[in-house]
Amino acid sequence: MKALLLTERSKFAYTDVPTPEPGEGEIQIRIKAVSICGSDVHGYDGTSGRREPELIIGHEAAGVIAKLGPGVTGFREGEPVVFNSVRYCRDCWYCGHGLENLCDNGCCYGIRTESQRLDGAMAEYLCVPAYLCYHIPEDVPFESAALIEPLAIAVHVVNGVQIKLNDTAVVFGAGVMGLMMLKVLKATGCGKVLSVEVDPFKKEMARKNGADAIIDGREDVSAQIRELTGGLGAEFAIETASLKATIHNAFHSVRKGGTVIQVGNISPTVEVPLQLLVNNEIHWIGRYGTYDEYESALALLSSGRVSVNDCISAAVPLQDGQVWFDRLHAAEPGLLKIVLLS
Ligand SMILES: [Zn+2]
Ligand SMILES: [Zn+2]
Repeated sequence: MKALLLTERSKFAYTDVPTPEPGEGEIQIRIKAVSICGSDVHGYDGTSGRREPELIIGHEAAGVIAKLGPGVTGFREGEPVVFNSVRYCRDCWYCGHGLENLCDNGCCYGIRTESQRLDGAMAEYLCVPAYLCYHIPEDVPFESAALIEPLAIAVHVVNGVQIKLNDTAVVFGAGVMGLMMLKVLKATGCGKVLSVEVDPFKKEMARKNGADAIIDGREDVSAQIRELTGGLGAEFAIETASLKATIHNAFHSVRKGGTVIQVGNISPTVEVPLQLLVNNEIHWIGRYGTYDEYESALALLSSGRVSVNDCISAAVPLQDGQVWFDRLHAAEPGLLKIVLLS
């Protein structure tokens, strides 16, 4: 089969590799669409240490079932599917308690470190355990389905807190994750959803996604949020940028007893306003990955309550992957998601 193989740091070859065959309980998927994740861009040049060559990258993908391994039930050849991007074990304490996102032995597809290696979806075929697969509803195209992981993560964030009708939430950052948060928060019936961003293109995207107000991150963010919330502050702040300034602003944007949800996690350590956290009884929680939110995310797409098409900047052939990785790496303005088709 053809694959986009990472042969050395920042270099891909579109080349022939052996086609993987499905083992017991596995499904061989003919990959149709795979989207480039921010973590892939931070990884292919070697910075994150999680995409070491030789490796097939890619964990956000959709395709058609090509072959069923022995013992697979509930699926048929030809059916369109997506899969959970993390192969959890179903064996550890966390998996046994429905917390598959915290699995002790979980491994994301398309990752290679010193201790783990799991080829990913930037290839014609990938085999994954059937328990990771979800049927794609008929009306959801492969390109959209390839964005199901970030949408499912946004659903996971919202499922982790109790948002009441008319609550105000502030989303810091309007990149892909921030936009997914806006889409899902609007779908929940959250009262006001405010967006904090500096980039003009992303601000415009936030506006198109129904943000009730867009605040420039370089201005006095907390003062503006207070003005928009009757002086109180917001119930929720969702931080997706993982920057010192946005984390500081997130803490200063919520009311006493409010909640700061940490989604961005690029920086290994950050500074927090400790006295504000304690004295105002702010809840600071991390949300990571997904467990059973893929079905909900697919239903949101199928029902039309959420659309992710506006996040797709280009859908291009898999063999052009190198060019698009490089353009994303150069942080070219106006680029969100790139979907590679095969
Ligand atoms: Zn991802
Ligand atoms: Zn596990």
